[in-house]
Amino acid sequence: MRPEPPPGVEPIQLTGGIPDPASLPIDDLIASNERVLRREGVFALQYGGPQGYPGLREWLAHDVNRREGLDLGPENFVLTTGSSGALENLCEALLDPGDVAIIERPTYPGSTRLVMSCLAEIEGVPVDADGIDVDALEQTVARVKAAGKRAKLLYTISNFQNPAASTLSIGRRKRIIEICRREHILIAQDDAYGPISFGEAPLPSLFALSGGDGAVLLGTFSKTLATGLRIGWLMGAQKIVDAVTRVRFDMGVSPWTSRVIADYCEAGKYDEHVPRVTEIYRRKRDIMLDALNERCGRYARWDVPKGGFFLWLQLSEGVDPRELDEAAWEEGIGYVGGKAFFDNGDGANYARLCFSNVAESDIPEAIMRFGRALERAAR
Ligand code: PMP
Repeated sequence: MRPEPPPGVEPIQLTGGIPDPASLPIDDLIASNERVLRREGVFALQYGGPQGYPGLREWLAHDVNRREGLDLGPENFVLTTGSSGALENLCEALLDPGDVAIIERPTYPGSTRLVMSCLAEIEGVPVDADGIDVDALEQTVARVKAAGKRAKLLYTISNFQNPAASTLSIGRRKRIIEICRREHILIAQDDAYGPISFGEAPLPSLFALSGGDGAVLLGTFSKTLATGLRIGWLMGAQKIVDAVTRVRFDMGVSPWTSRVIADYCEAGKYDEHVPRVTEIYRRKRDIMLDALNERCGRYARWDVPKGGFFLWLQLSEGVDPRELDEAAWEEGIGYVGGKAFFDNGDGANYARLCFSNVAESDIPEAIMRFGRALERAAR
């Protein structure tokens, strides 16, 4: 049994990777909803087809063409239930039982579970501050081949990784594309956090770098706008999009929600919203970093995230992760222990702190509690 936090201590959670609740654009979504229902209500309230509302796919194509200098059209997109739905549909279309899917270690555990649900075998490759360790990827690919198996998919969260907060460097992107092209491995870049960048110009996607051949991008409105929308997409060569569309047996995602988002985006609201919320996350990151530097430097080390929602702490050798878990509970501070992000039992000496969802004014107190928990767990 877990000891209870002391009476009167309201727990603060640094757990869920979800947007800042106060920033959800409720009024603008009400306005878009009203316009959509009055203007095109009959279409919004009927089945929309497995590939999803063309108007939103057109906006997505226009948006990525502008950012990445591409020449895509709506046919290069299928709308999905978030980016996790995109990965699920891709795995259904691509993987047969016994195929090997390569994932990052650590990675988002929801994706690991999805890949496993297709009865694929998982191989993990370590991630450092510059993303996937490419030499380890080479070795893994060779080992899979030597075992007579077929690696079909590489799943990578290349920008502001969950949980490691790292970004895959441009040099590694190019090498990974070469390896995967040679070995006929499709790259699935999950770009859930890509738009939330704190300064530096975003790196080209693996899709763009590969010339549109050999990589797909999984996108979502969950992190930039709202997780409750449940709208994401897969972007790729038309033959892959068609293959993924063919495994959608559920009549597609909500035409209503898709049309509301399209109206919101076409009105220019999304382009205003993303920089506004990014600034909120940058400020929260900075406040959390200041507090960590002040309170936790003796017990853990971390890199400065250049975007996204997370700080990834490597605990010092003297910190007992199990005691940290208990002490944090008692102090009233929630975080996610690193083991959750490894498929192989590793990661006990890491902790993920999420700064997106906690109130800015609670961050100093949150890190003070976390620091006290670290101190108690240090031998
Ligand atoms: N991919 C990553 C890397 C995530 O962190 C998450 C959410 N935690 C998801 C996908 C799920 O996003 P969605 O709501 O778009 O399915």
